[in-house]
This record gives sequence, structure tokens and C-alpha cells, in this order.
Amino acid sequence: MANNEDLFKKIIAHAKEYGFVFQSSEIYDGLSAAYDYGPNGSELKKNIRDYWWKAMVQMHENIVGIDSAIFMHPTVWKASGHVDAFNDPLIDNKDSKKRYRADVLVEDYMAKIEAKIFKEVAKAKKRFGDSFDEKQFLETNPRVLANQQKIDNIKNRLYPAMDKDDMAAIKTLIEDLGIACPVSGSKNWTEVRQFNLMFSTQMGSVAEGATEIFLRPETAQGIFVNYLNVQKTSRMKIPFGIAQTGKAFRNEIVARQFIFRMREFEQMEMQFFVRPGEEMKWYAYWKEQRMNWHLSLGIPAEKFRFHDHEKLAHYANAAADVEFEFPMGFKELEGIHSRTDFDLSAHEKYSGKKLRYHDPELNESYVPYVVETSIGLDRMFLAILSNAYTEETLEGGNSRVVMKIPPLLAPYKIAVFPLTKKDGMPEKALEIMNGLKSDFMCFYEEKDSIGKRYRRHDAIGTPYCVTVDHQTFEDNTVTIRERDSMQQERVAIDKIAGIVAERLRAKL
Ligand code: ATP
Repeated sequence: MANNEDLFKKIIAHAKEYGFVFQSSEIYDGLSAAYDYGPNGSELKKNIRDYWWKAMVQMHENIVGIDSAIFMHPTVWKASGHVDAFNDPLIDNKDSKKRYRADVLVEDYMAKIEAKIFKEVAKAKKRFGDSFDEKQFLETNPRVLANQQKIDNIKNRLYPAMDKDDMAAIKTLIEDLGIACPVSGSKNWTEVRQFNLMFSTQMGSVAEGATEIFLRPETAQGIFVNYLNVQKTSRMKIPFGIAQTGKAFRNEIVARQFIFRMREFEQMEMQFFVRPGEEMKWYAYWKEQRMNWHLSLGIPAEKFRFHDHEKLAHYANAAADVEFEFPMGFKELEGIHSRTDFDLSAHEKYSGKKLRYHDPELNESYVPYVVETSIGLDRMFLAILSNAYTEETLEGGNSRVVMKIPPLLAPYKIAVFPLTKKDGMPEKALEIMNGLKSDFMCFYEEKDSIGKRYRRHDAIGTPYCVTVDHQTFEDNTVTIRERDSMQQERVAIDKIAGIVAERLRAKL
């Protein structure tokens, strides 16, 4: 555990040092749970967003995009259930004065028990080798069964209490489990209270005439309220999808863990409208599609897992998270939800406008069902950063930190260097860069030794470094050095673009 915490700290420090992520308003000591993306970070973030857009919109003829406003009519949030139910239960520790989500305290407690089960499985796997039958082990091992029983008992108390908004029952559960504050170690808790996560503000210039409006806590509602506009103007036939990326705001109770949980963050969401009754087929389809998207980036499959929800939101009939192994363990990266016709029906009711689809094949009108994929762009950014961060010891005892960012997403694709600042090399290097920069983000630099320049580009994940040397003037070739293998090759200048483009081709 300590090692992973160290790793996380190193990643955060690296993200700052190399212009990926800064604390918001740092010169004023920062604003909690708000972050700014620096030059390399904003490139990486844009590339992730573009790659998502490409997979969802460009690769699917039946998905189109929109860009809706952050401010929406306040009734939208009444209809969606956010005004009444977008709450988290909070609890304070009286000694440390730290605030927690009461349900997360209990879930963390369950995760510790679950970790014991994983440990047993890992031990047994080692002991039995190939003959190990994990399913049978989980069903029969007494220690595993006892722990599983403990988890089930807790779930049977937590989730009904959450559903019934029974804050006193959650408090009793925390007391019965003997959960202590991780900071003070004490069990001196306040009562549990509901807390609405939406930020509100006033719209209108005079206080009396102003309306309370909300900063959207998800981008999805902008899609729902535009569903008919888009369907009609784009002449879409069911099944079809609408995609959107944009900022969302949640007044999170506990917003630690860097960009994992922020109060202002960006989502990439897609709502797929389907015939009622066909939602499970599409739910399975999108689970698979989204996992393939993650794997297409070359991140090892064992870093991902699905977590199927047992406790469903009132509007969902199936839901799963794609979890990623962040430095602090497996956590939700993306949600895939079968949301039924809950949102569209609610908007019909509250707006008094019909939001139906006339299905020409069935010759029938209905409110479509919706399967949603929803991923946090900042969480994806953190997944990429934490998977990329690698410390390597090189031959000769040197070491390097290399960010093994998928080349397609790297902030810069090519760095161009003159070997020395003399003999026309800088001019030649600039000429090469100018020929490449309309197709690739390029970086020119001539300061310090080539080795140091390589290290700087390893640290920001630039997949290729091109160096102009004396031989360039004899045969129009340069060396091209690949980030991960550190292999150098001599290639003709007019081959550089092709080599890099091949490596950057999306494997969707
Ligand atoms: P969590 O349980 O972690 O609070 P959630 O289940 O509330 O997340 P959703 O409402 O399903 O999240 O939102 C979809 C995605 O948006 C999440 O999978 C996550 O990637 C991202 N997301 C949600 N809240 C935040 C946040 N506070 N900061 C950064 N990303 C977030």
C-alpha cells in the first residue's frame, strides 16, 4: 500500500513538474478539488476527448454529437430527480473535523473484507497451480464464505437504508461495524445528514427577479432535452445515439485523490436510444464496445474489470462500471447504464411536450429506452498518466522516467533536434519540423546534450525524437529514436511522416 501511495505522489509531482496538471489558483494556495491543465495536460486531454469522439461519433453512422449549455431550465433537474435525490449521506468525525461520505466509509470497510478474499484466492492459485478451480474455491472455502457472508450482511443493511433515506440506520451500521476515522482513529461521529451535490447560482440581474439555477451535474440531461430536435434535424432512426463532452459540477463531500474526484470535471457521455425491450442487447453491446475502446489504447487488460451493480438506481434496469486499477486500487472509470425510459418520460411529464418516436417498421409510437455510456475525461486522464509513469534503470546505471502514453494521445508526437547548434543543423532541423508540423504536434529544441533532450521528451511521453547530424547533409537522412525501446534508426527525411503516422493510426 505504502508503495502505491508513493507512486501516486510521484505521479502528481511529475504531472506538475512537466506541465500536465496544476492546482487551481495555486498562488492563492489553491482551491480544493479544482485543477488546471497545463500545456502538456491540455494536449493530452484534448487527444483523449478526440479519441473518444472518433470512436463514438466518427465510427458510428448512427451517432451524432451536440454541445449543449451548462445552464439549463431549473425544471430539468426536478424532472431528472436531481433536486430531490442527488444526495450523498455525509458524516463528520468530531475529533479530526474531517467530513466523509457515510456510505463510502462502509464501502471501504467492505472493500477491506473483499481484499482478504482476493488474498485467499491468490494464495490458493499459487498453491494449486493449473489445477486451481477459482469458482469452486469461492463456493467452498470456509474463510472465503465467512467473509462473503460478512459483506452480504453489511450490504443488506446499507443499501435498503440508502434507498429509504434512513440516515439513522446508516449511523448505527457505522457504529456496529466499529468504523474509526482514518485520520483521528476515533469513533466520535456526528449524525448522518443528506447533502445535495448540485451547485446553484442566480440567473438574472436583480435579486428579487433572479431565478435559482444549477450548474449541470451531468451532461446527459442536455442530450435528453434535445432528443427530438436532434432526431428530427439529423433524420435519425432508432437505434441511434447522441454524444456530448463537457463540464459537469458536483459539490462532492470528499474530494481528495487529485483529479479522480473533482468539483468541476468533464464528462464524455453518449445516450443510445433503442426500442423498449431491446435495451439488454444494446447494454451488452455497449459494455463490449467500451471495453474494446479502452483496450485499443494498448493498456494491459488486467488493469480493467467490470463491476456489475447489484444496487440499481431507481431508473436503471442494469448498470456496470468499468473499473481501472488506479494507484489507489480498482475504482470506477466509466459507467454503462440501461436507464429505461425514465428520463424521457419524466421530461414529457414535466414539460408537457411529447418526446415519442414513431417507429416506421412497427408503425407504433413509443418513448425510447436509453443505454448510456458515461466516462469522466479527467479520470481517463489519470488512468493514462498512472499507467504511463515508468521508472527505468538503464545500462550504465543511469535511470529515466518515461511516460509510456499511448502515442496517439501523447502531447507531442515528434521532437526535432539539431545534434549541435552549428554547421547549419538548426536550420535543417527547423526546416524538417516545419514540414511536419501541420500533421503532427512537433517540438524543436537545441539546448543541452542529446541525452538530456531525450530524457525531457521521455518525461512528457513524446514517442519520436528526430536528430539532424552531419550525415544528414550527405544523404538526407536523420536518426529517429523511439521512446519505449530507445532504438534508433537511420531513415530518409521523407520517410519520417509515414513512420509516425503508422504508429499513430487508431486501432478502432
Ligand atoms: P462516483 O461513484 O465515483 O461518485 P458516479 O457513479 O457518481 O461516480 P456517474 O454519475 O456515473 O459517477 O458519472 C459518470 C462518470 O463521471 C464516472 O464514471 C466518472 O468517471 C466521472 N465522474 C463522476 N464524478 C466525478 C468527479 N467528482 N470528478 C471526476 N470525475 C467524475
